[in-house]
Amino acid sequence: MLFSRTSVTLALLATAFAGMMYLPLSQMPPAYAAFCFVYLLLFHYSIFSLALRLRKITAILLPILLFLSIIGSYLYTFLNIKISDNLLFLLIETTAGEAGQALTPAFIAAILAAVILSTGAYYGLKRCTQPPSLKWPILLLIVLIPINVALSKFNKYPLARQLRPAIATKYAFPFCVIDSVANFSIRWVQYKTRPKPQSSALLSSEVMKPDQREPLTLIFVIGESARADHFQINGYPRETTPRLAKEENVLTYGAIRSFAALTRISVPVMLTPATTKHPKITTNSFLDLFVKHGFSTAWISANSRAVYSSDMPTTRIMGNAQKTIFRNDFTTADYSSFRDEMMLPVVKEVLSTTDGKRAIVVHTRGSHFQYHSKYSQKYRKFTPDKYSGYDNLKTVINAYDNSIIATDGFLADIYDMVRNQNALVIYCSDHGESLGEDGIFMHGNKKRPEQREVPLIIWYSDKYKQLNPDYVAALKNQVGKALSHDVLFPWTVNLGGIALKNTSLPVLIPN
Ligand SMILES: [Zn+2]
Repeated sequence: MLFSRTSVTLALLATAFAGMMYLPLSQMPPAYAAFCFVYLLLFHYSIFSLALRLRKITAILLPILLFLSIIGSYLYTFLNIKISDNLLFLLIETTAGEAGQALTPAFIAAILAAVILSTGAYYGLKRCTQPPSLKWPILLLIVLIPINVALSKFNKYPLARQLRPAIATKYAFPFCVIDSVANFSIRWVQYKTRPKPQSSALLSSEVMKPDQREPLTLIFVIGESARADHFQINGYPRETTPRLAKEENVLTYGAIRSFAALTRISVPVMLTPATTKHPKITTNSFLDLFVKHGFSTAWISANSRAVYSSDMPTTRIMGNAQKTIFRNDFTTADYSSFRDEMMLPVVKEVLSTTDGKRAIVVHTRGSHFQYHSKYSQKYRKFTPDKYSGYDNLKTVINAYDNSIIATDGFLADIYDMVRNQNALVIYCSDHGESLGEDGIFMHGNKKRPEQREVPLIIWYSDKYKQLNPDYVAALKNQVGKALSHDVLFPWTVNLGGIALKNTSLPVLIPN
């Protein structure tokens, strides 16, 4: 009985799932690792034995969980990315282009392995016609479950801290997948049933600077995955911002704290009155407010229109931009061959076909993974920069730094377009990026400081300075202060000459 087909199948599955915790197990003393591995084996075996009483459902669900867990364990083991509800949101909102870029040979191999093993599991489970005995699984669970509960209850103790990363049901495969999918589903329903944000034009406001001799051009550039400490003007030893370094009217605020480590969560907060203290998105972007006060408005994006036509966090807050121009409106370049500089002629076109006061948002691709496809040859300064995985850190960082040089060139080219006008360009990144710190890469982990410390760089033209010396003084006054994404909405609105009345937001210029 012990070696029946059913018990062999379940034992194989239990071993596969236990093996997925290789990363935390390998970081423990051998005795602890052995204990945890045996714990996982017995726990999985017992749970699967119980589940197999509903064989028809289990034969479908368990292979699906195995598939997702293999993908999850690949991300966890090799990129230190833990599966979570946020990661699932990221996956469903990822464009085909972005997904294509993430498909490294190793990742494709992991997907293939997942398909083969989960198919095998499906046929294996279907053949388990003889239900397993319940006595041992139940007895085992009576012992094992209290251990897990106790570790969670006393999670501050060193022993619990050592063991929990491998065996707590919150972290162990496949339970972490179930937990993430459940949380994701709850949040997705909440998100879909949430009322649409109201127009920012409804905010109580008035024009502060009615008598500008020359109408203002305000450009807000949303950066992507740029971390403040890789900018030369913030003290990085490499020459990553050669052109900004030469600009006289550039103010850099060093590292400011991003609201989150994900685009979908950060961008809405950057452009709306939501703050760290009041994170609920109830109002759309400042563009509606600018329209109300006589600005012409535009939204230029490196994303394709298809992505924006669906109900996305950024679409919801975009507001009524008078012109919306997306990647596929002006180029046939796909995700992998697109560079931010391709938006420069579009910005130029918008500037030459509008007059009066203007507010323009430019949503860039910046330093999004994969870095080496984000810049053209003229910005390829640090080599070698061709990587296929994360094994050669130096190459990855070379490529990342080149993408910052491309951002430097992009911003300076925009400054050149409006240099002789009454103009202002605000640049801030949505979140940072991990570049191998503690073996972690990319973004999505809000606890990592390097994913939360982003650049805020404001440039103003000589004319702006001449017409608004008080505003420039207020901007200079904030350099060196501890700032966050919270300031972007009130500052942008203020710098556009609009005062917010009865507000608790961190305004730049008090009424
Ligand atoms: Zn982002």
